[in-house]
Amino acid sequence: MMADTLPRVSGKLTANAPLAPLVWFKAGGAAEHLFEPRDTADLQSFLRDLDPAVPVMALGLGSNLIVRDGGVAGVVVRLGKAFAGAALSGPLTLNCGGGTSGILVSSTARDQGIAGLEFLRSIPGTVGGFVRMNGGAYGAEVAERLVDCDVVLRDGALVTLTVADLHYSYRHSELPEGAIVVAARFQGHAGEPAAIQAEMERIAASREASQPLRSKTGGSTFKNPPGHKAWELVDRAGCRGLTLGGAQVSEKHTNFLINTGAATSDEIEALGEEVRRRVRENCGVELEWEIQRVGMRIHSTHLNPPPLGEGDHSKGGGGGVGCASLAPSVSPFGTATSPRGGGSL
Ligand SMILES: Cc1cc2nc3c(=O)[nH]c(=O)nc-3n(C[C@H](O)[C@H](O)[C@H](O)COP(=O)(O)OP(=O)(O)OC[C@H]3O[C@@H](n4cnc5c(N)ncnc54)[C@H](O)[C@@H]3O)c2cc1C
Repeated sequence: MMADTLPRVSGKLTANAPLAPLVWFKAGGAAEHLFEPRDTADLQSFLRDLDPAVPVMALGLGSNLIVRDGGVAGVVVRLGKAFAGAALSGPLTLNCGGGTSGILVSSTARDQGIAGLEFLRSIPGTVGGFVRMNGGAYGAEVAERLVDCDVVLRDGALVTLTVADLHYSYRHSELPEGAIVVAARFQGHAGEPAAIQAEMERIAASREASQPLRSKTGGSTFKNPPGHKAWELVDRAGCRGLTLGGAQVSEKHTNFLINTGAATSDEIEALGEEVRRRVRENCGVELEWEIQRVGMRIHSTHLNPPPLGEGDHSKGGGGGVGCASLAPSVSPFGTATSPRGGGSL
C-alpha cells in the first residue's frame, strides 16, 4: 500500500513506523502506516475514503499488546493530545477523550468529587483501551461505570454506543472490528476528594508491591479461568522465572511476562505458549490469552528455540501447592522438567 494512494489527512501519517517504542514490551515490528489524527473529523474522513480492504487497528499505550516482529499491515491509529482530556458532562459523569490516561480520568474524578473511578488510577492504558478491553481492577470494571462512548466505525461513521451495545464480559467487549473509541462517558457516585485520593494512593501502593511496574511488560498475560487465578496456575506449573531468550515469566507476579532486555515478540509469545502448555499438562486448565497479539510473525521460536533457563525459585510464592497432576512434564525442547521450578529446558 503506497502512501500516495492513501486519503489526505490533516494529522500525521507515517509509513513503516516502528511500534516497539510505543508499546510497553518495547518489542515488535513496524506499522505499515501509523495515523495520528488531528481530530475526530480528520479520523472520520480518512476512514471514509480509505479502501475498505485495508485493515485498521487502534493503539493506546500498548500496555496489553504484543506486536509481532513482522509488523502490522494496514493502518494503526493512535490518538494523541487532541483526544486526551476529561471534563464534567453531567451529574457525577465525566466525558473523556479516547486517548486519556487512567490517571487523568481518576484524578479529574477526584477533583469533581466523583468516587468509583479510582481503579483506573492503576491501569496504565487509555480510555479507548479500557473501553475495548473492559479494563478492571480492585473489584471494579469499566462495564460498571461506562455510560456510553463515541466511536468512529471503519467506514468513517461517528456513532454513540451505549454500555449495553458493547455486550461486555470479562476483559472483552463486542466493539466492532476496526472501530476507534474517540470519547467515553463514565459515571461514579458522590465522594469526598480526600477519601478518593486516599483510595487512589492505597491502590497505587498495592500495585507497586505486587506487580513489576517498572518492567517492559504487557500486564496480565492470561485471563483468570472461572474459579482460578491465572498466576496461581502458572506458579503451580513451575513457570515462575522461566526464561526463553530475553523473555521471562516475572518473579514478582507470575501472570506477567517481561522483556528483560532485547527479547523479540516471538520469544515473548512463545514463552506464553510454553506456559499455557505446562499449565494444561500440569493442571488440566486451558489458559486464554488476555494480551492482544497483533501483526505477523517472521519466524517461529517454537521451531528454533533459543536457550531457555530457570528463574530464581528460592522465593517460592503462590503457596507452593501443586496441581492435581504433579508428574514431571517433558518440554517441547526434549528435556524433562520439574513441576516446581522453571525447569532446565
Ligand atoms: C503494569 C500493567 C498493569 C496492568 N494492570 C491491569 C489491570 O489491573 N486491569 C486491566 O484490566 N488491565 C491491566 N493492564 C492491561 C492494560 O493496561 C489494559 O488492558 C488497558 O485497558 C489497555 O489500554 P491501552 O490504551 O494501552 O490499549 P492497548 O494495549 O494499546 O490496546 C489494547 C486493545 O485495545 C484496543 N484499543 C486501544 N485504544 C483503542 C481505541 N481508542 N479504540 C478502540 N480500541 C482501542 C487495541 O486495538 C487493542 O485491541 C495492565 C498493564 C500493565 C502493563
